[in-house]
Amino acid sequence: RLQIDGLGRAFQGRPVVRDVTLSVAAGQVLCLLGPSGCGKSTTLRIVAGVDWPDTGTVRVDGRVVTGEGRRVPPEERSVGLMFQDFALFPHLSVADNVGFGLRGPRAQRQARVRELLERVHLDSHAAAFPHELSGGEQQRVALVRAIAPRPRVMLMDEPFSGLDNRLRDGIRDETLAVLKEEGTAVLLVTHEPEEALRMADEIALMRGGRIVQRGAPYNVYNNPADREAAAFFSDIN
Ligand code: ATP
Ligand code: MG
Repeated sequence: RLQIDGLGRAFQGRPVVRDVTLSVAAGQVLCLLGPSGCGKSTTLRIVAGVDWPDTGTVRVDGRVVTGEGRRVPPEERSVGLMFQDFALFPHLSVADNVGFGLRGPRAQRQARVRELLERVHLDSHAAAFPHELSGGEQQRVALVRAIAPRPRVMLMDEPFSGLDNRLRDGIRDETLAVLKEEGTAVLLVTHEPEEALRMADEIALMRGGRIVQRGAPYNVYNNPADREAAAFFSDIN
């Protein structure tokens, strides 16, 4: 479970994140929607532990990782990242890419890698190198690499926007199924209304650093808080 309370962040005196409070339960997807520059990526960076707020706390499964004087380093907070720029390590095989962040006995690590590659139907490509894979296959490798260490929280910043439409739906659904199965709490940023409605258990709308509306996708879609939100959903039917 991810719990964000009263998060605030200013750059050169200009507030970018203002009193943001959000929570995501295990196995749930919270979709963060809002215009460019409203503070979405800044919020995600704070949760990831690569930026620090002026106020507020971040908890992962109840443990404070940011705030109350604590600064848990990114690799120790059980938070995984999937960004559009998902670059695999070009000099490592598919299996070594997936196993990169794993600790523990070798046999156990290998079993985890095999299990994950089977799940995304890439077990026959375990020995291949990234340049030998299609874009969609690379994306699936990046997905299971992010999931491999079993993070309790997954942060996704437009992870599918680099893919063409044909590929996107399949990979999106596959990603979601794996994350649900693993009971990961997901915070997803997207510009695609259809993606939000398809993936989210809950939607939060952000404007000028604040959360202005929060609710079930169906409710936000039917009863948007402002004209901008209405316009966002208007091209879906
Ligand atoms: P987009 O949808 O375009 O990705 P966003 O909601 O992710 O937008 P952020 O990246 O969070 O927006 O940026 C919010 C604001 O904070 C922007 O005005 C940006 O210029 C500013 N900002 C972000 N990081 C810094 C920084 N390190 N120093 C100064 N300003 C910053
Ligand atoms: Mg951003």
